[in-house]
Amino acid sequence: MDYKTSKRYGPYLPEEYYRQLIIYAFLYTLEMGEMPKFVGVNYLRFDDTFFVKVGQSELDEARDLIKMVHDCIKEREEYEDRYEQKPQNLCKWCSFHKSQGGPCDAVIPKWEPTFKKRKKENYSDIDSSLKKDLDVESQSQFPDFD
Ligand code: SF4
Repeated sequence: MDYKTSKRYGPYLPEEYYRQLIIYAFLYTLEMGEMPKFVGVNYLRFDDTFFVKVGQSELDEARDLIKMVHDCIKEREEYEDRYEQKPQNLCKWCSFHKSQGGPCDAVIPKWEPTFKKRKKENYSDIDSSLKKDLDVESQSQFPDFD
């Protein structure tokens, strides 16, 4: 079971999660010597679980996927110039980065919070004569609803 934070919760299992699950099933089978019957993703916030039934075809699919990625990486390895730098916050922990003694000189982008402070509301759509009578910032003018 893979526990997720629920950011990608929706009506169906995202393709990447499916791939992740069948790879887990493949690795579990290699390690434990027996095939799991199911693998699943649990979305913690909603306590909802999506299951994937595991059979030989899922294990074969996972093996082919791993092999395909492996072959692509091997092919690229021969041509170092085909690797593009992807500067990101994770570079700090990458063993290729020069700060870790590696050859990559990627400039790590400055961290910015995703939450941006909202501009103060100026209620430009409310007529200025009304603003004098109405305390638009106050919540007490609105009725309570149960
Ligand atoms: S340090 Fe270089 S190789 Fe490593 S993740 Fe960043 S860009 Fe990629």
